[in-house]
Amino acid sequence: MNRISTKVTAYFFIAVLIMESFLIFYLHRNIINTRIQEEFSRLLASGSNHRDVLVENYSDTTMKHIVLMEKNEDREVIITDNNGKIIRSSEENIASLEELLPLLKDINLKNDEILVSDWKESPYIISAHPYEVDTKQSGYIVMFQSTHSIKQLVEKLNVHFGMAGGTSVVLLLIIYSSLSKILTRPLIRMKEATEKLSKGEFDVILPYIGKDELGDLSGSIQKLANDLERLKTERNEFLASIAHELSTPLTYLIGYSKIAMRKEVGEKEREHYLAIIAEESDRMKELIKNLLDLAKMDENTFTVTKGYFEARPFFENIIKLVDPSFELKKQKLHFVCDSNFQVHADSLRMEQIVLNLLDNAMKYSKENTIVTLEVQKKDNKTIFSVMDNGIGIPSDEIDFIFEKLYRVEKSRSRSFGGSGIGLSVVKELVEAHGGNIEVRSTLGKGSTFTVTI
Ligand code: ADP
Repeated sequence: MNRISTKVTAYFFIAVLIMESFLIFYLHRNIINTRIQEEFSRLLASGSNHRDVLVENYSDTTMKHIVLMEKNEDREVIITDNNGKIIRSSEENIASLEELLPLLKDINLKNDEILVSDWKESPYIISAHPYEVDTKQSGYIVMFQSTHSIKQLVEKLNVHFGMAGGTSVVLLLIIYSSLSKILTRPLIRMKEATEKLSKGEFDVILPYIGKDELGDLSGSIQKLANDLERLKTERNEFLASIAHELSTPLTYLIGYSKIAMRKEVGEKEREHYLAIIAEESDRMKELIKNLLDLAKMDENTFTVTKGYFEARPFFENIIKLVDPSFELKKQKLHFVCDSNFQVHADSLRMEQIVLNLLDNAMKYSKENTIVTLEVQKKDNKTIFSVMDNGIGIPSDEIDFIFEKLYRVEKSRSRSFGGSGIGLSVVKELVEAHGGNIEVRSTLGKGSTFTVTI
């Protein structure tokens, strides 16, 4: 029994079976006991009625009447005198009753009593009712109730309860096998799906099976498969993009260095080629730096060393650094910082964050637009936002832009020269500072990235 569903349903089966057995046993006992108590009460009631009548009107006729009244198949009555001798009997064959009478000899009853209650062994249950008319006239009225009908009832009950028990066991078995199938089928599908995933095949499709725990598990596996599939595609695209990103500057480096080495090239021209080589080398360095950061983050070897520095000069330095690039793209960079204050962060990492966000704002905005960098201190925290009037981010992609290697509309990113690393690096850096980053964006109108550190 190594299937969980089989186990669960087996426990269920056993539990219901135990409960049902208890219930059947309890009902069986209760019905029989109630019936027997009824018989005892009826017997005692009849006996005491007869006795009352006899005491009130002691005569042979009364006795005859009493005996006549009880002349049916189920019940018998005998009336004894003070010597224990039978005066009257409803049964002609007195001998069959007499053998039960020795019981009476040894007793001295004051009240009505059940003498024989063992309905299982004895042919009758017997009650005795003492009467006393005067000192000379006393004795017992003894009532006999056949136990045959009780035994018949018990037999019938046994058959009915047996049938009910048998039917419910069959029903339980049917429920058991269908339940274990219902539970097993999705589990087997999930097992096959995970086996496929472990082999690197991510094209898994699990059907929707509802909102219970199994449904949640199936949903999680499906999500995992989708994520892995997406990651696989992203990774391939990323590698293609990296190869492309590296090969472009490399082609320039090789080409221009070969030209610069030519003897016939003039000094001015050589300087121009060397400038291009330097620029392309910088681009490569930047890309490789980002890739290294990404690798470090994956290995968790990334450290942040916090220190205190002044906000305004720090941000002004960055503005100075990037202003020429903005001018080149015919964009304006606004800086808003109402008061100077102390920032508690790793200045190098913080510069990397700001530069990345400004670079994106510039990259994803058209000419003649404005990018604003706003800095403020609130609740002892440094908050800075980079706002642009650029192309914006589609709302259904906004949740993914911080994921490693994720790029909105791959072709658009490639034309803008992105590799999908920048924002994931930024997010890791912000979180390493214990801060958070938020983004609001409207497609076609612009984006605002806000960092709180
Ligand atoms: P990339 O190197 O491609 O820019 P990022 O991780 O920096 O990678 O950004 C992820 C994606 O988010 C980009 O592909 C880009 O489409 C989108 N994005 C980031 N910043 C902006 C922005 N300011 N405006 C519009 N889209 C942006």
